[in-house]
Amino acid sequence: MLDSNIRLGCFFINKTFSITQITIGAALVTVILYKGNSSVLVTLFFVYDSQTCTKCDREKIMENTLEDMVALVTGSGRGMGRTHAELLASRGADVIVHDMDKKNANETVEVVRALGRKAEAIISDVCDVKDFSSKIKQMEYKFGKIDILVNNAGIGGNKLVLEDIDELVYDRLFDTHVRGTFFATRSVIPGMKERNYGKIINISSIYAMGGSNFASHYAAAKSAISGLTKSWAREFAPWKICCNAVAPGFILTDMTRGSNTIEMLEARSKAMPLGRFTKSIEISYSVCWLASRECDMITGQVISPNSGEVIVGY
Ligand code: NDP
Repeated sequence: MLDSNIRLGCFFINKTFSITQITIGAALVTVILYKGNSSVLVTLFFVYDSQTCTKCDREKIMENTLEDMVALVTGSGRGMGRTHAELLASRGADVIVHDMDKKNANETVEVVRALGRKAEAIISDVCDVKDFSSKIKQMEYKFGKIDILVNNAGIGGNKLVLEDIDELVYDRLFDTHVRGTFFATRSVIPGMKERNYGKIINISSIYAMGGSNFASHYAAAKSAISGLTKSWAREFAPWKICCNAVAPGFILTDMTRGSNTIEMLEARSKAMPLGRFTKSIEISYSVCWLASRECDMITGQVISPNSGEVIVGY
């Protein structure tokens, strides 16, 4: 124990060195204990594997996983897209908001700015490749980079059986989900390749795993997104660009409220092994985790927060 006459002086030097593939850290800690006119000097020298992180680095990563990142979230004017934008910002990312609806997009921009992060909106239809791509490029220039792309914009399958899905409905659904995801990704990839870093997070669906008995066009489009995810994970790996998908189970948003009665919702939520619907924010947790440096070694995966629904069937 130190008594009250003992004073403490402390010096700390910490450096990391790369030797071939291994990064090691070295720290020098010098402690001087003073008592009256005499002093004792104690020096400790540590060498550690810095790739497995010191405790304080690890805490920093957990606290603020997306500091200095720029994210683009498609369809973030409302629904889960807005929740993703908000959580990305609260973890430190600047956010490029996108939607067709200007008012909704601007509201999300304000939500992000209120969290102290930079935000701007792109107003565009994801199906209009020329317009959307050129606006993405303008924003990339303005923000300096895009590190994270969340391909979230989507429309529901509207509980349509095969006979009720005409060409117009089919094309609009495929264009929004598959064409939108494909060409938004195509716009951000050159910049990510230049920086040897990027996170593509595609929003798939539980229906890509188990199909749907009344939205086969939607299930097919989401299955295509799972296929793109695995292919892009392979294609972009040499540039350290990770591509993963989040496949939500049933989430209460405008999309699902519109096509389900209260009775249907109650019955479905009771049947969930975990006893309730997954919330939008619980999808955003997965999105933000995949967007973080904690997932630098995860690619080509589809993770599905779905309240356990997929285990028992839906
Ligand atoms: P919402 O309907 O609440 O929101 C969808 C968002 O996408 C809106 O902001 C909408 O913009 C935007 N959007 C739709 N079409 C376009 C387009 N052509 N161009 C630009 N923006 C567009 O949906 P959710 O939040 O429920 O769904 C988000 C994603 O999650 C979708 O990909 C969906 O398929 C997927 N998903 C949803 C599930 C659920 O249970 N809710 C389950 C599994 C997956 P606007 O306001 O202008 O229409």
